[in-house]
Parts: sequence; structure tokens; C-alpha cells
Amino acid sequence: MPPQTIRKKSEDWELVPNLLDYDAARENFSWEHELGLLDGLPGGGLNIAHEAVDRHASSDRREHLALRWLDRNGEATDFSYGDLSELSNRFANVLRDLGVQKGDRVFALSERLPALYVTALGTLKNGSVFCPLFSAFGPEPLHSRLSIGEARVLVTTESLYRRKVASLRESLPQLQYLLLVREKPQGELPDGTLDFQQLLDGAADTFPIENTGPEDPALLHFTSGTTGRPKGALHVHEAVLAHHASARLALDLHPQDIFWCTADPGWVTGTSYGIIAPLTIGATMIVDREEFEPERWYGILREQKVSVWYTAPTAVRMMMKYGTELARQFELPALRFMASVGEPLNPEAVLWGQEAFGLPFHDNWWQTETGGIMIANFLSQPIRPGSMGRPLPGIEAAIVRPSEDGSVEIIEEADQEGELALKRGWPSMFRSYLHEEERYRKCFRGDWYLTGDLARRDEDGYFWFIGRADDVIKSSGHLIGPFEVESALMEHPAVAEAAVIGVPDPMAGEIVKAFVSLKPGFEAGETLQREILALARKRLGPAVAPRQLQVEDSLPRTRSGKIMRRLLKARELGLPEGDTSTLEHPGGR
Ligand code: AMP
Repeated sequence: MPPQTIRKKSEDWELVPNLLDYDAARENFSWEHELGLLDGLPGGGLNIAHEAVDRHASSDRREHLALRWLDRNGEATDFSYGDLSELSNRFANVLRDLGVQKGDRVFALSERLPALYVTALGTLKNGSVFCPLFSAFGPEPLHSRLSIGEARVLVTTESLYRRKVASLRESLPQLQYLLLVREKPQGELPDGTLDFQQLLDGAADTFPIENTGPEDPALLHFTSGTTGRPKGALHVHEAVLAHHASARLALDLHPQDIFWCTADPGWVTGTSYGIIAPLTIGATMIVDREEFEPERWYGILREQKVSVWYTAPTAVRMMMKYGTELARQFELPALRFMASVGEPLNPEAVLWGQEAFGLPFHDNWWQTETGGIMIANFLSQPIRPGSMGRPLPGIEAAIVRPSEDGSVEIIEEADQEGELALKRGWPSMFRSYLHEEERYRKCFRGDWYLTGDLARRDEDGYFWFIGRADDVIKSSGHLIGPFEVESALMEHPAVAEAAVIGVPDPMAGEIVKAFVSLKPGFEAGETLQREILALARKRLGPAVAPRQLQVEDSLPRTRSGKIMRRLLKARELGLPEGDTSTLEHPGGR
């Protein structure tokens, strides 16, 4: 379809898209030029929080609205760039006074509260590494991430602490400081914790930012693989170049925009584009404390005059379910650009945007490891519904075929399926998986980073998503590692073996389905099944736990003992079973 018509945001400013000509933008692009658009630290360093906040706070944009936070009732609390600068200075002072140092890891586990944003920015100012955790995780995913990441500080809410963290403390010896945000204080502060707000109030509001360099660690995001524990993808301060460039070019953000990224900062999108990128542009960002509810969302778009909206396919599908009529009841003259990320966006959803809002959704693609948007449908360019778009200026993407000998064959021919790869070296590329050099190394073949996604490129250079090359599951946009779920299932005394797969779901894209076999002496039955599912939910939290469970006599394994999730999936979906020659007992179920 042709590019969307360019809507003016308001009468006050004329909109010229940041990217007008795709080929010219690619040709003229350089990361040096992008660096020149930022400020840098006075001592020659680079710090994300300086570029996001202090740069604007020390300019005539100090009073510009940086963050508008909406509480449960939709009441707004406003923070200017000046306010955010002072609050994050206070938090950086809190950290420094506690003796938290450059490189130490500061974790946050919180709903979308202002304290979360202050924590992120203050942590970066102190030169410490910010690591967000999703508030819907259960104790088990929290424990593994806090321990792999050797969390020294955790900022959380009193309620999440009492429900999920208190019981883990003894097994996290490195976790020295627990700072609690008390939305509704529940009696005395629990032993061994500190009051976030009290500390903040007692700290000075000026802070000399730690002189971080481009390669100093800044952000740690956990992601899931097929096997083993979650992986901590480490990003550095230089990533801010990509946050800023992609916000300009892929999301067409301007300083005058009111931007709403609906992703939670517990995941990478909610940090890169729900905190950092819009602030580096100097725009206003909207943060809603609550979860999806169609009328609430349309109300926010209208009342807050959102001009650029970044959301996810699951949310779009839910809106579609509630119908076009409902969406049309809300006039949204300020809205001028809509984008989506995280899972495949069906072509119907792209077009539904046009029907419901008069604008198409622009799909774009990236992942935790890439730190920022890599492939996008741009405002000024034709959209191909169903395609993720084309690589951003500064990003080289290819379809490749990795071979056994460790090399990689680049498939030049159009429309061939292969693995999506990116030429290494963009600023927001992850620099390691924490403590797992080998796992990191395996992601690269020469100059190419292998993304783990299968895709094809058409003859005009648009990329089309095909599926994952591995067994990880995407449910409601959240990446779920089967191993983590299987380990939790195995904790039930009746479970002998467990395997989980993703099965298609009209809303969530995929949901997690578990297969288990039972130990001798246990009888399959509805009560037991419910009990196993309930245990998994308690341990893992609702975002990760399986929704369905099936008991089998045994699970299919290879001769080397690995459970064949692929076979389970093929059987579940009624697809050809493929090569089962390595199967131990092909009857297997
Ligand atoms: P995460 O690291 O949790 O952000 O998940 C990244 C993965 O989500 C990618 O490797 C893809 O499998 C999937 N993904 C992200 N964006 C898209 C998209 N636009 N279309 C299809 N899949 C996507």
C-alpha cells in the first residue's frame, strides 16, 4: 500500500518526516553524524541519562513536559525535564551514599510508577547498570534473574516485596539493598528494607554524572533461549545513539510529539522506547499505570492528544475484537503515526488501523539483543502489510544460511527462506550475555549476528518474518524460554518429565502448552492437572505459566535423551513429523 498520508500534528508546527527518501537516508547515514546530534558529557564521555534528561533540562526546554503519568483513575501527574533531572539526581545520590558503584547492578521490579523511571535514570547517572524485571513474573523467574545478575540493589514496591521477594532474600546473598516504594503503606517497613521515598527526599538534587564512556555497561535485559537459564543481554551507553536514531527515523519522533509506548519497562521495548528514546528526542511521553482496556486506551489517545503511538500486535488484536465502531467513537485528530512491534503483525491488523483510526499500523522488528529497532516500515515509504519493513539506515540485514563449518552463506536471491542476520557493529548491539561468553560467541558467524529468526527478503528489500529457528515461545509479545517453564513443572512431585511448546492463539499469538508424564503411582485426572498448572502459575507468574496441560504416558526423546519439542508441536498442529530417525521410541506418547 502507498505511504500513509502525512498528518500534521497541530496548527503550531509543520511536519516534515525525519526520513523522506529511504535510499538517500541510508546512503548519507553515519553513526558519527548521529553522535554529533547528541551532547556527550563535559569530560568527553557518553551517558544515556544525560542525553535523555539533563541535556534538555539544561536548555530552554527545561520546563517542557517530559513524562505524564496516569494513575488508576486516569489522574495525571506531570514531570518536566527539569523535574526528571532533579529526581534522578536525587536517586543517583541515594545510590552513591549507599556505596553503590559504577558497574554495580541495580534491579527494578515495579508496576509502571514514577519511581521506576526515576530509578532507571538515576541508576544510569551513577554509572550503575539498570536491570528491569517484569512485575508479573513469579518468584522463580525473579530469583534466577536476580541471582544471575548479582543484583546489589532492588527497587520494588512494598506489595511486590511482600508477595514475591521476601521469601527469596536468604538465597540472594549479594542483594544488599532493598528499596521499597510504598504506594499504600502496610504497617511497619519490613525488616532489612529501606523506604525509597524517604531516601529520595533526604538526598541532594544535584549530581555530577559519572563519567561513563560509550563502552561502559548501562542496561541488562534478560531474555530466553531454548535451553538453560535466562540470558542477561548487556548493553552499553553507546546504545543511546541507536535509541535516538531509531526514534527519529523509524518512529518519526519530533520534540513536539506526545508519544505513548504501551510496552512495560520490564521488557526491552518498554525501556528503550518507553523511557530512553522519547526522552532523547525531547518529546513528551505518556505512561499509564494500568493494563489494556479498550475504552481507557482510546480515552488516553484522545485526552492526552497522543501523536505517535507504539504498541503491540496482541493489543491491536484485542482492539479489533472490541470492534471498529468503538474505536471510531473517539476522535483522534492529534494521532499521526502508529507503529507495532514484538510479534508478527497480521496484514489485516495493518489495514484495520486504517479503518479504525484512518492510519495504518507500521510494523517493525527488533529483539532484546539488538537493543533498538532494526527493521521498519517508515512513515514516508510504502507499507507492505505483513512485512516487517526494511533495515534502518546504519543497519545491514541479510538472509543467511549458517553452515556446519562455522561460516555463513549469504543468500542474495530474493524470496528465499533463511536465518535473519545483522552485520555486527551497530551501537545498541548487546556486548555479552552475562557470564556466558560461549553462548554469546555462538550468536556470531564472522561479521554476522544470527538473530534466531527465520525470514525472507523480497526483491525490493522488505523482510518477511517466517518463524523462530528455535523453540522459544512468544506469548502476548513476551518471549518465554521452554526450559524455565519445564523446570517449574518438574517441581511438582507427580511430574516425571515435562516439555512445553507454543500453540497458536487468536489473541496472544501463542500460548504455552505443557506436556508431562507422571511418576509411577500417580493417576492422571483433572484435579492433578489443575494442581500442576496452579503450581506452575504460582512459581512462574501468569505471564510465563502454561495455560494448557496434557498428560502423556511418556514424551518423545532423541537417543541422546533430549525431549523433542518439535515433534510434540508437529503432532499438536497436525503437521508432518519431519525426520524422526533420531527418535528413541517413535511411538513415544
Ligand atoms: P524480545 O527479545 O523479547 O524482544 O523478542 C524478540 C523476538 O520477537 C524476535 O526475535 C522475533 O521472534 C519476535 N518479533 C519481534 N518483532 C517482530 C515482528 N515485527 N514480527 C515478527 N516477530 C517479531
